[in-house]
Amino acid sequence: MAIASATVFAPVDDATATAKLASQCDVITFENEFVDLPALAQIAEARFYPTLDSLKPLLDKLDQRQFLQRIAVPTPRFLAIDAKQEAEFKDTVLQFGLPAVLKARRHGYDGQGTFILQDSQSDLPQALPNQWLLEEFIPFECELAVMAARAIEGEVVIYPTVETQQEQQVCRRVYVTAFAPAITAQVEAIARRILAELNYVGVMGIEFFLSRDGKVLVNELAPRTHNSGHYSLDACVTSQFEQQLRAVCGLPLGSPQLTSAGAVMVNLLGYETSSSDYAEKRQRLSEIPQAHLYWYGKTSRPGRKLGHVTVLLSNGQDRTEAETIAGTIEQYGRGGKQTADE
Ligand code: ADP
Repeated sequence: MAIASATVFAPVDDATATAKLASQCDVITFENEFVDLPALAQIAEARFYPTLDSLKPLLDKLDQRQFLQRIAVPTPRFLAIDAKQEAEFKDTVLQFGLPAVLKARRHGYDGQGTFILQDSQSDLPQALPNQWLLEEFIPFECELAVMAARAIEGEVVIYPTVETQQEQQVCRRVYVTAFAPAITAQVEAIARRILAELNYVGVMGIEFFLSRDGKVLVNELAPRTHNSGHYSLDACVTSQFEQQLRAVCGLPLGSPQLTSAGAVMVNLLGYETSSSDYAEKRQRLSEIPQAHLYWYGKTSRPGRKLGHVTVLLSNGQDRTEAETIAGTIEQYGRGGKQTADE
């Protein structure tokens, strides 16, 4: 069924095409942050949600850190460095303190452009971006994330706090199981403050580090639907995608409540370059009890997110069991071509 009566296909940062889109619709929203804000600001007739003003501090990692600092939200200590300082780079890093994390300020995703510098012998990336951010390495207990949504009139709903597990800076697993109230209280208070300060409209993914002494620090803000919220498609009353449309269209927000005891979501990453549809592998994954498989139909490349599986947990299935389920998904989703007895 066609929902839209017309479609405009163009790169996401093409402002001329966006102007054409604006002439055909009431509101435009975003699903990534690789947009050209100054060019979009020229399109007088367009209504964007989130607004361009609210996106302004979010598109560059340095601006994000400065925004969080300004509104007194805990975040790792940081330093901006630009290309002119390349010669003194090593001294600057040593002075700042190691271990540290070097990040490209823009256009990073899935750990592309993020480099962990363990000691003074650490290799620097081959191609340094022009502008980057150096920040303290947080020896976190675990990483957390939350999806929050704000309506045009200011109503806010917050989804459950989840744990995310990254490998080589790429999210592999999301656990939706209960957290200590003291932790969720910090997460929710921070989410509310950020959305209100930005006068934000739409869904936002917020990533956190949980320190060993139980303190929550913000790692990153994603002004859109987010991988850590994919579980909401199957485990919540309102999915993050429906919520985004509700928020930007001025509809009442939906409930973010869980409809199951919990969930575990595993990203299916490519292991090879291939155009196979991995039918056999998909079949095995979809046969896991309470599993919901999403296959994006992309060409496989090593490390590329090709799909995800969410398994709903029943009452009594605890975190240990969720880890076993994640292990099964990874085992079934692993490898190149599946053999019959694998
Ligand atoms: P991206 O924007 O590419 O997702 P992030 O800044 O979120 O990159 O970093 C990816 C991952 O790298 C994080 O989820 C975390 O595991 C690790 N990481 C990033 N910054 C830090 C930090 N300051 N301390 C410790 N680990 C970090």
